[in-house]
Amino acid sequence: MSSQHARPGPRSIELFDRARRFTPGGVNSPARAFNGVGGGAPVFIDRARGAWITDVDGNEYVDYVGSFGPMILGHADPAVVEAVQKQAAKGLSFGAPTGLEVELAELISTMVDSIESVRMVNSGTEAAMTAIRLARGHTGRNKIVKFAGNYHGHVDALLVNAGSGPLTLGIPGSPGVPASVVEDTLVATYNDLESVKTAFAEHGDEIAAIMVEPVAGNMNCVPPVDGFLEGLREICDAHGTLLIFDEVMTGFRVHPNCAQAYFGVTPDVTALGKIVGGGMPVGAVGGPASVMETLAPSGPVYQAGTLSGHPLGMAAGIATLEQIRDGSVHAAIEPKMTALRDGLAARARQHGVPFMTQGAGAMFGMFFTEAERVTRFDEVAACDLDAFTRFFHGMLDNGVYLAPAAFEAAFVSRAHDEEAIEATLAAADKAFAAVAAG
Ligand code: PMP
Repeated sequence: MSSQHARPGPRSIELFDRARRFTPGGVNSPARAFNGVGGGAPVFIDRARGAWITDVDGNEYVDYVGSFGPMILGHADPAVVEAVQKQAAKGLSFGAPTGLEVELAELISTMVDSIESVRMVNSGTEAAMTAIRLARGHTGRNKIVKFAGNYHGHVDALLVNAGSGPLTLGIPGSPGVPASVVEDTLVATYNDLESVKTAFAEHGDEIAAIMVEPVAGNMNCVPPVDGFLEGLREICDAHGTLLIFDEVMTGFRVHPNCAQAYFGVTPDVTALGKIVGGGMPVGAVGGPASVMETLAPSGPVYQAGTLSGHPLGMAAGIATLEQIRDGSVHAAIEPKMTALRDGLAARARQHGVPFMTQGAGAMFGMFFTEAERVTRFDEVAACDLDAFTRFFHGMLDNGVYLAPAAFEAAFVSRAHDEEAIEATLAAADKAFAAVAAG
């Protein structure tokens, strides 16, 4: 399909041919491949600044991927780049503590109410993995409840498919994940408290944690329905179960103090990633000291990392959170987000394309559907995926880079100014016309 399109250009195609010889599928993370939008070479990136990203053929795009979330300040933010460069000159990594780790941990615990103590890791996957080990070690229980369509990285125990029915025993979501590893993972339905209650009716005193994305950002973008997060909190309190918010994507994006502040529901443990590292490979797990002290070396639950608290990641994270903490970044993004979402909806209407957006804070999703709101995974799956694919390529050909799959959220940064949004809406006009043409 990609050959019918102007982009990717010849250099991307050539790089992809080479990449496929040396790397499985030619990419280092499947989310970057174009398999979900007709296949072919993805766009290879050369550089990015602000809201704009430039590919190896010199094509420029308004970027709504933002490195899949971290780039809330825009690409190559001068303060972040300077902080990293300064730190790099002092040495890359020491395997001994630095003041930077203390500074970032203090910043996080100042900004996120539920967090007193933080353990730094190297990715969102590690944060989620550590969070469930911590919950299991802390409670002495083994079972975990997760939600179909929520993603927590490629952690074995969380890489689980739901079967049919509102609550299912997990079945491995990938070859290589033994059934024995997921036998303690229960899969419930996002935005459906009844499915969670069913799990607790059967297994209440065996469940260590409920793990949830407070806004689901890996099945397009699905905010929680009223009462859902509150209900999870109540269920956890009634059963001595820990509530884990996976805020790897939503943390510092939905709100300067994370989704938990936006929705007013306090988790026990929070997994962070993406923005917390300002574009460097950083994750973090945080919570009250009483829970976090269960981790080694204070407590018995083992967790470690040669490069954890990496100085460059800490420097980038500090330089990012320091700009977010006073709320000005989110305040600046809000009106742009409204202009963008309203503008997209208006253009879809003009072309008679069934389309809707929904989101929270600085993330949103695009849905090719007649529905006014989508709250469940099966409803996301029922949207018109072919329409998305045509829209995606229409946008790419006209200078807008969206995530190459209908199940990803879109991210807006402080750097998305009027020019970027106008360019996006002009491209959308053509892309919706292509969708309408079928
Ligand atoms: N949790 C959530 C909610 C995520 O969105 C992601 C990544 N998209 C992860 C965990 C895994 O993070 P990473 O890719 O950094 O391992």
